[in-house]
Amino acid sequence: MIVETLSVFPEMFEPYMSSSILGRARRAGLFDFAAYDLRDWTHDRHRTVDDEPYGGGQGMLMKVEPLAEAIEDIASKGPKPHVVFFTPCGERFDQRIAERLATCERLLLVCGRYEGMDERAYSFADERLSIGDYVLTGGELPAMVVADAVIRLLPGALGDDMSNVDESFSGGQTGGLLEYEQYTRPSTFRGAGVPEVLLSGDHAKVDAWRRRNAIERTCRWRPDLLEAAALSDAERAYAEELLARYHDADGQAEAQRSDTEEEVQA
Ligand code: SAM
Repeated sequence: MIVETLSVFPEMFEPYMSSSILGRARRAGLFDFAAYDLRDWTHDRHRTVDDEPYGGGQGMLMKVEPLAEAIEDIASKGPKPHVVFFTPCGERFDQRIAERLATCERLLLVCGRYEGMDERAYSFADERLSIGDYVLTGGELPAMVVADAVIRLLPGALGDDMSNVDESFSGGQTGGLLEYEQYTRPSTFRGAGVPEVLLSGDHAKVDAWRRRNAIERTCRWRPDLLEAAALSDAERAYAEELLARYHDADGQAEAQRSDTEEEVQA
């Protein structure tokens, strides 16, 4: 896979893209990365990429010409890229989108700055993504968020001993639920213990506990995920019982912890 970014701060990317799991995956040849500087496609002495908005208003907008020239030029050098623009007005990024983007041969991530972009620039986008309902100063962090979520899905990126299949939101073993709680040594920390079952060595019981815990956590923190989650009839009945217990008629969560979370106290 080829992952590329286009922004006015290309230097922001290299430290992240060469560290930890992404760095290892890159060195292993699972993806190539390049960060392009939008100013390389300007033609004036000041390398101008922004201008005032027509109709007035606060701030500056990214000009369409450098973006258009840059995207066309970058695209001409290799297979056709899938072009993603970042904007708070885009579709909300999630694991499902990450899984789809992980199948792209070439991904070009275009980062805004200032008050955003001339609307005509979006005609070069295959899709517009937001990483959440808040406004950042630029699209560089969203690009890194998306690159990270996508690259770790590439086969071999997590190494042989790690897996994506039972993580939160994955369609795999979790069936679209949040991931269950996990613990490591020590077995007691400042009076807080570990659920006994996890120390039992009984894998069937551990699996059953994890499934129940995942349902409880999802009911507690993200009940919106339940509708699409893969649950048996008995699990769905349990989830409905929990929802009634955890949330009042207006959907407000009550302060208590879930059942399996209570078990953690020694
Ligand atoms: N005026 C814009 C608005 O109200 O929607 C916000 C522009 S923001 C200050 C500058 C750039 O940061 C955007 O063009 C976009 O590339 C990026 N950005 C900011 N927040 C974002 C978010 N939640 N998701 C994706 N990109 C974001």
